Amino acid sequence: MGEFDLIKEFFTRPTQRAVLGVGDDCALLQPAPGMQLAISTDMLVSGQHFFADVDPFTLGHKALAVNLSDLAACGAKPLAFTLALALPESNATWLSAFSKGMFALADQHSCELIGGDTTRGPLTISITIFGEVPPGQALLRSGACAGDDIYVSGSLGDARLGLEALQGKISLSAHDLVQARQRLEQPTPRIALGLALRGIATSAIDVSDGLLGDLQHVLDSSKAGATLHTHLLQPLMIAANQPLAYILAGGDDYELVFTAPPHLREAVTRAAQSARTPVSRIGCIDASPQLRLLDAHGTLVSGTFASFDHFSSSIAS
Ligand code: ADP
Ligand code: MG
Repeated sequence: MGEFDLIKEFFTRPTQRAVLGVGDDCALLQPAPGMQLAISTDMLVSGQHFFADVDPFTLGHKALAVNLSDLAACGAKPLAFTLALALPESNATWLSAFSKGMFALADQHSCELIGGDTTRGPLTISITIFGEVPPGQALLRSGACAGDDIYVSGSLGDARLGLEALQGKISLSAHDLVQARQRLEQPTPRIALGLALRGIATSAIDVSDGLLGDLQHVLDSSKAGATLHTHLLQPLMIAANQPLAYILAGGDDYELVFTAPPHLREAVTRAAQSARTPVSRIGCIDASPQLRLLDAHGTLVSGTFASFDHFSSSIAS
């Protein structure tokens, strides 16, 4: 199958809201009057971000999910995306499953594919996503203030747990493996929560490289520090006896970490309920610039919890 047949068969659907979708030199998108566009790009490389033989349906889901997660972190509503694909071969079975996984998630968020590029090469998937947000309401990394509470959505460390199990480094019960694998391969972007937190959260980021590393980005941007409590983090894992390091620096979680002032605790609870997303308070923002981790007795926990850095490590063994 040639490039253009492939695009027509697997990546062309009638447009829903875009003025013009796949098939011309540019797509045309009409933003709602007065709204700002939120734009983000993520690239997934075979052997680096996923196993080459991973189920293509879940890969299609994940490729879009990591981009939707960036919109969630900014409190932006998804509109559309473009897809740049490098493929080693034109495999109709693979492409069909990949596009089905991608479109299933796209349809859940009314986010449509409006264009892209297709070329031969080592399997690489790059998506650029477009969302909208009212001016001044985007959630940024820079707004955390001393005294703010720190929250995280959902659970942490499960994706890393699943990765280690699939690599044969640890063994899990059948039940835990199913859950951990689901979290690794089909993360849930927290779009509804991001939207509900507009006007409440002072800062937000999505956890892609690990809690400590990503929270540090918020602290750097906000010129602040933080104290986290291990006993508040411990319940955030799906399997018993999961190493604390997976929660702190596992990576691939795609949960939201955000801050809000203590007088808005009830508003945070209501936002979490309206978004049907569990949220936990895990610490607070400090004026002094360190990131501290305390145990249940208030003792400082030390250790190196390096976050996932693609230039120092890889899933490819
Ligand atoms: P051009 O050469 O003008 O850049 P292409 O020949 O690369 O255009 O692509 C033809 C059309 O197909 C364009 O509208 C482009 O956006 C779309 N397209 C190409 N690859 C993809 C893809 N993987 N997913 C969706 N649309 C695609
Ligand atoms: Mg052209």
